[in-house]
Amino acid sequence: AAAREAPVPAGPGRTADGRPVDLMVNVGSAADLDGVDLTGVAGVGLFRTEFLFLGRHEQPGPDEQAAAYAKVFEAAGDRTVVVRTLDAGADKPLPFLRLPGEPNPALGVRGLRVARRRPGVLRTQLEAVARAAAGTRARVAVMAPMVSTPAEADEFVALARECGLPAAGVMIEVPAAALRAARILREAEFLSIGTNDLSQYALAADRQSSDVPDLLDPWQPAVLDLVARCAEAGAAAGKSVGVCGEAAADPLLAPVLAGLGVTRLSMAPRALPAVRAALLRRTFAECADLAERVLAADDPAEARELARTQQNGGA
Ligand code: PEP
Ligand code: MG
Repeated sequence: AAAREAPVPAGPGRTADGRPVDLMVNVGSAADLDGVDLTGVAGVGLFRTEFLFLGRHEQPGPDEQAAAYAKVFEAAGDRTVVVRTLDAGADKPLPFLRLPGEPNPALGVRGLRVARRRPGVLRTQLEAVARAAAGTRARVAVMAPMVSTPAEADEFVALARECGLPAAGVMIEVPAAALRAARILREAEFLSIGTNDLSQYALAADRQSSDVPDLLDPWQPAVLDLVARCAEAGAAAGKSVGVCGEAAADPLLAPVLAGLGVTRLSMAPRALPAVRAALLRRTFAECADLAERVLAADDPAEARELARTQQNGGA
């Protein structure tokens, strides 16, 4: 049914009863913030830094990197900006790394794993972020992609601190990391769930394949179980757990995520109004109740139906 969408004025993300859910945006460069109304937006929840490295045969130097990061920090004013360190490999091949050809690149050297082979690339990037952060009002945080184990998370957080970046978190994109979320939060300051990759790895369904869309679906109850586990760990630790994959941009799913205990939703800027409106239509208790019922669903179709029924004023 077509929703009766009364336009909601731009403002902070919250449920009908005022429980805050930070709304943030995903960007690849400062240009992505041009013309975006950031009223009420908590900042940039995912700054994908790959753009700077694309098509390069050498790593961009520290000055060039710092200048590019500073532009995004400036555009964000005094808001938070979460810089994701280079996520190369698999669906984001980068020639300058000269990574070995692999039969299964999505399971090979990608994301943070690149740092094992090329530690200098990560250190240079973190130093450039720290330098750019020193000159702005933005609250700068960093996070690593494709973390699989607490040891990897700890190492990343330690290196970030060494580079002068105490606000260091990790992405949860691998089921093993979701299962160990509580342990990872011992050192990490926050978690940000990348549901695109988490769905891929939880359901063993290639995100680049068009043959498995039914499996590659963040509404899969197994994916939402993993999200719930992370959110519980975050609540216990008093730390923020966000979602920055496409799932956060789905206005039907956003209240479910909030009900699971997710405290931040980061999305393409154009998705903000619908997600903001969807949260405002429900109390937190309604979100939590919906989340509980969605977790008990057998499949994504049943889960979506539960959310639609609630949205349209059903039981
Ligand atoms: C994700 O995997 O959900 C994510 C946000 O990262 P990317 O889409 O850049 O892999
Ligand atoms: Mg990812």
